[in-house]
Amino acid sequence: MYSFFESVERSFDKAAEFTKWDKGLLEQIKACNSIYSMRFPVKMDDGRIEVIEAYRVQHSQHKTPCKGGIRFSKEVNQDEVMALASLMTYKCAIVNVPFGGAKGGIKINPRNHSTYELEKITRRYTAELVKKNFIGPGIDVPAPDYGTGEREMAWIVDTYASLKPGEIDAAGCVTGKPITQGGVHGRKEATGLGVFFGVREVCNNETVMAKLGLSTGISGKKVVVQGLGNVGYHCAKFFRENGAIVIAIAEYEGAVYSEAGINEEELFKHRNATGSVKDFAGSTFIAKSAEALELDCDILIPAALENVIDGNNAPRIKAKIIGEAANGPLTPEADEVFIAKGTLVIPDMYLNAGGVTVSYFEWLKNLSHVRYGRLEKRFTESMNHHILTEIEILTGKQASTRARNLIEHGADEIDLVHSGLEETMISATQEIMDIWHANPAIPDMRTAAYVCAIDKVGISYAELGIFP
Ligand code: GLU
Repeated sequence: MYSFFESVERSFDKAAEFTKWDKGLLEQIKACNSIYSMRFPVKMDDGRIEVIEAYRVQHSQHKTPCKGGIRFSKEVNQDEVMALASLMTYKCAIVNVPFGGAKGGIKINPRNHSTYELEKITRRYTAELVKKNFIGPGIDVPAPDYGTGEREMAWIVDTYASLKPGEIDAAGCVTGKPITQGGVHGRKEATGLGVFFGVREVCNNETVMAKLGLSTGISGKKVVVQGLGNVGYHCAKFFRENGAIVIAIAEYEGAVYSEAGINEEELFKHRNATGSVKDFAGSTFIAKSAEALELDCDILIPAALENVIDGNNAPRIKAKIIGEAANGPLTPEADEVFIAKGTLVIPDMYLNAGGVTVSYFEWLKNLSHVRYGRLEKRFTESMNHHILTEIEILTGKQASTRARNLIEHGADEIDLVHSGLEETMISATQEIMDIWHANPAIPDMRTAAYVCAIDKVGISYAELGIFP
């Protein structure tokens, strides 16, 4: 049984064999550069003082700033944050986002705290980061992760800005902010949409699909999603909207199953109203949530926490494709089972990179102090209008209103963000596939993704001239 960080190291070592880098350089790439473990007191609503355990790990500064989310969970520990920070480095490298990897964690169950307590904890954590120079638009830029969202990011940017008066780029100290606080349109759904684009690209590959005995395309595929948080919800939404049948959605209190398909939005509303996914109309309730992972389906999307599929349950998983929307949902033992079974595992560290990719767009927006599309939208629309009108005059034919609206439309921020995300996920999928197919000894897509990441970080170090 390996710790999460050891599992990441194992996958790294497995891939390092396929690279040409010096052993010492590989050690440097693998190591976590800076680890900040902190304890601070917070007075709770009932007057009690609680000592909060929290972390920020900067895995690599081969590119700065460092980047990665902050999670709120009772399971947070240093090993977990180190593993997640490492994955961020590799993730950013693969999708060509020019950041080093980092991650933060606060060991609390957010459900056990009032909003006011959560705000105090988040603001105090931010102040601790400021004191040690562990946050800033050019240093380290946090984002949402498990148990956090826009609200927490708003508290972080506000605390940071108040401690750094006059810092013109303060908004770029954190991403995943609400739009009104410097956020970017499209960040919320980015991870789920990125997962969808990545899996769709794999499913469009005829050779890969033929090997798995599946037809190409997303339409009609049976999908199981684990997790109805931000990532799971949006994965389910995009798969359903594109013709897949989401036959089950699992949460920690149980799972719901229906061969006809589950509507994630209805389920989300039901869960908000009743506190559970149980008794959802038209579905069967599965009390043991983990059993939903073993349902007969084409695509399984674990979108919750790490280590949910290990050597024990992996042999019972029937999905042909596993898309890792969560970070580290499979253990190295599970990987071995799937290699032997011929199950295709699309690895976390690029498949869920949509979040950080759009975070990058948000950070760029913050540094440029202007919304995407602000300058060119009207210009493009008027140019398109003139071109279309000219074509109509020359041909003597008229475009339909639908076609006219489509052609004349100038890009809004959301159009540009989605376009950038789609391009990123398609190129990354192809790059990893190319590495995998160029070397038949590489056993799986995860190893190919690591090779891709190690090479990119390696080049970056080599270019710095530290390791001639
Ligand atoms: N927490 C997300 C991840 O694991 C997003 C990180 C970011 O946007 O910086 O990739």
